[in-house]
This record gives sequence, structure tokens and C-alpha cells, in this order.
Amino acid sequence: MSYISEVIEQTKLRNPGQPQFMQTVEEVLGSIAPAVEQNEKKLRKNVILERLVEPDRQIIFRVPWMDDNGVYHVNTGYRVQFNNAIGPYKGGLRFQKDVNLDTMKFLAFEQTFKNSLTSLPMGGGKGGSDFDPTGKSDDEIMRFCQSFMNELYRHIGPNMDVPAGDMGVGGREIGYLFGQYKKIVGDYENGVLTGKGLSYGGSLIRPEATGFGATYFLDEVLKHEGQTIEGKTFCLSGFGNVAWGASKKIDELGGKVVTLSGPDGFIYDPDGVTGEKIDYLLEMRASNRNRVQDYSDKFGCDFVAGKKPWGNVKADIYMPCARQNEILLEDAKAMVAMGVPILNEVSNMPTTNEALAYLQAHGVLVTPSKAVNAGGVATSGLEMSQNSERLSWQAEEVDRQLKNIMKGIHNQICDALDTYGLPYNPVAGANLAGFKKVADAMLAQGIY
Ligand code: GLU
Repeated sequence: MSYISEVIEQTKLRNPGQPQFMQTVEEVLGSIAPAVEQNEKKLRKNVILERLVEPDRQIIFRVPWMDDNGVYHVNTGYRVQFNNAIGPYKGGLRFQKDVNLDTMKFLAFEQTFKNSLTSLPMGGGKGGSDFDPTGKSDDEIMRFCQSFMNELYRHIGPNMDVPAGDMGVGGREIGYLFGQYKKIVGDYENGVLTGKGLSYGGSLIRPEATGFGATYFLDEVLKHEGQTIEGKTFCLSGFGNVAWGASKKIDELGGKVVTLSGPDGFIYDPDGVTGEKIDYLLEMRASNRNRVQDYSDKFGCDFVAGKKPWGNVKADIYMPCARQNEILLEDAKAMVAMGVPILNEVSNMPTTNEALAYLQAHGVLVTPSKAVNAGGVATSGLEMSQNSERLSWQAEEVDRQLKNIMKGIHNQICDALDTYGLPYNPVAGANLAGFKKVADAMLAQGIY
């Protein structure tokens, strides 16, 4: 049995009931074979793959909180500190009702490679809770965040672990989390969290960064294929921060976004998501209603209940911006049947491994989310630099650096593929490039 297969088998045995984590382990390890084969003896001796798939630590804690009626509730909080070979643990916090340890581990594992691709010194971590923000009042959100931080604070710090937002955690939540951290620790260490408000150490462009970065990355991919964003139509899923930033940048570059989605269904706006419609997405997110139908109610376009855009609307590019496993095998088949040539993955692990294999076998160009959405965490890295220098950069400066980073990620992917003589396949290239840097740092630092 090959070294990779051995490690996959061991990992399965040690992580029963964690399908999402196994999915990403199989996806990553499955594409780094050329790198592993070249250095197998050294990697085996240093148990690199075995250490790579085992988190440094997994913290699970109780989060009690009181609702507006004075009734107490208890949720579970998590922080998985996966790998800090190249920098302090870094990654978002997700508040969503179906969050569990499996979700946290798959996200923290992906984050390790994603952060490595940014070329900034950040390790991989992820956290969150099964708390459901839908329908919660501002006060309830504040009390939940405070209670969550009452435990989290002892595990994080500007040089130790730097959380940020993810689904269900935006600027408002980061504000409450930071307020409580400061209160407990008694120090103004605002480098402990990123995605902060501008008035207390946040970075310009951070809210837009994931969507902007995803569009910049796609632009590099299209350039490689001799194409441009201008004139292309896009089906997006989601309507949160990521879909908002992407819609803004796609619109600016002359593309047209025609769908968005939510847990309730999807909207189809053939005139394009532009201008005030893009701004309205922010209101929809802030309302905590978690309904995309609000968009069609306001702007009078079609709403299709209970469905996803995939296979229902034809476009030049599909861009899932909502959540994991939203492109299943049946969606992949519908996409191929409809002749959609490009899947730009934005949300973390949106495509199941069987759907990915089907798409690639049928000539669809798939880009890897760990590269595409890395602009968010990269800009968090820039926020950390600004905090430690005690200054703030102009929006143009942050945007320029973000663009360079995304271009750099695409270059690294191409270089990694060239090194192993492989054809253009950004999914494999991202895994190879991310793995190389993390493995080199782990080798240099010895076994611990
Ligand atoms: N949650 C985002 C991600 O998955 C951002 C993480 C961060 O900025 O630390 O990359």
C-alpha cells in the first residue's frame, strides 16, 4: 500500500463519523502523490503525513447564554488549532446550527493549506459554534459572543491564534468578541482578531476581500485560458459577505451576476445584480432573516423556492459562494449537460469529491476554493501587519496587495504543476504548492 493510502486508512479509523474531514483529507492527499513519491523516505521518517492530518489540539467548550426572555440556553463552542508550522493559527469562527467537530476539522485542515498559499506567515485553525444566529436579536448575539469569548480568550492571542469571521460571524460579532476579550485580558491587543471595524483597528477592503480576491483569482485563470470576465454571465449561490464582494467586483469588471441563493431557494435576476441591489445584500445579511426571497420581493425578479441555481440557469461560470457540499454529483451532471465550462469554487469545499472527479473527467475547468477564497484570510494577514505597525493603509494599498497575492497564488500553482510536469489543473497545483511549504517548515522544525 502506498504511504498516502496508508495514512488515509489510518485517518479513517481514527476519525469515525467525520465524513467532511475525510473528504478533504482524501482530496488533498490524493493530489500530492508526485511530491510525496519524490521524498517518501524523508517524509515517512518524519511522519509528515501522519502529523499533517492530526490537529495540534481540538478545544471543545460549553457556551451558556441568556435570550431576551431571560431563558438560558447552552451551545457547544469549538476551536481547532490544526497546524502552526508557518505562523500563528489563523482562521475564522463559524456560527451555524449544523456546526460540529467534523465541520471544524475539515475547515481547519483546508485553512492550513490556504493560508500557506497566501505566502503570509499564518498557520491553520478554525472555530465556531452550533449557535444559530437566524432570528436572534442584537442583544442575544452580543450575550452569545461574550459567553463564547469567556472561554476562547485563554486559547488565543496575536502571536498564538488569531480568529476572524466566517459564516454567521461578521463585523458586528467580531466587535462584541473583541470587546469581551479586551475586558478579560485587560490589554488593547487588537491584533487578536481580524475583520474588525475600521474605528478600532480593522483594515479597509477586509469586508470585500474574499469576493474581490475570488474574482481576481478567476481573472488570472481566465487570462491563462486567453479569456476575460467582461461579457460573461455568472450564477452565484449565497447572498452573504462573499457573494456581495464577488458581485461588486464582477460588476466592476463587466461581468453579470444573474443568480443568488439562500436556504429558502434562489433568485434569478436576468438584468444582473448591480448598483443598489448589491448594497441591499448587506441589509439582508444584517437582518438575520437568512432569506434570499427578500431580494426578489424588493426588486421584482423570479424566486425559485427550495432549489439551487445549478442546472436550472445556464451561465458561463458557476461560482458557489454559500457552503460546503453544495455541488453534488447530480449538480455536476446537470452542469455538464448544460454546457457550463467553468466552476470557480469560492465557499470552502463546495464540491464533493465524486462531483469534482466527474466535472474534471468531462473537461470542466475547476478552480480550488482553498486558492480562490484565500483573499479573505490574506487581507486578515494584512490587517495583522497594520495592527502590529499601529497604522492603517489606504484602501488602494490594501487592494493592490490583495491583487498581487492572488496573482502570486496562481503563479505558485502554475510553478508547482510545472515542477511535476503536470497539465493545467489548479486543484492539484494548489494542493501541491500548499503542501510543499507546510511540509518544508515542519521538516525544518523537527518532530514534536
Ligand atoms: N473565514 C475566512 C476563511 O475561511 C477568513 C479567515 C480569516 O480571515 O482568518 O478564510
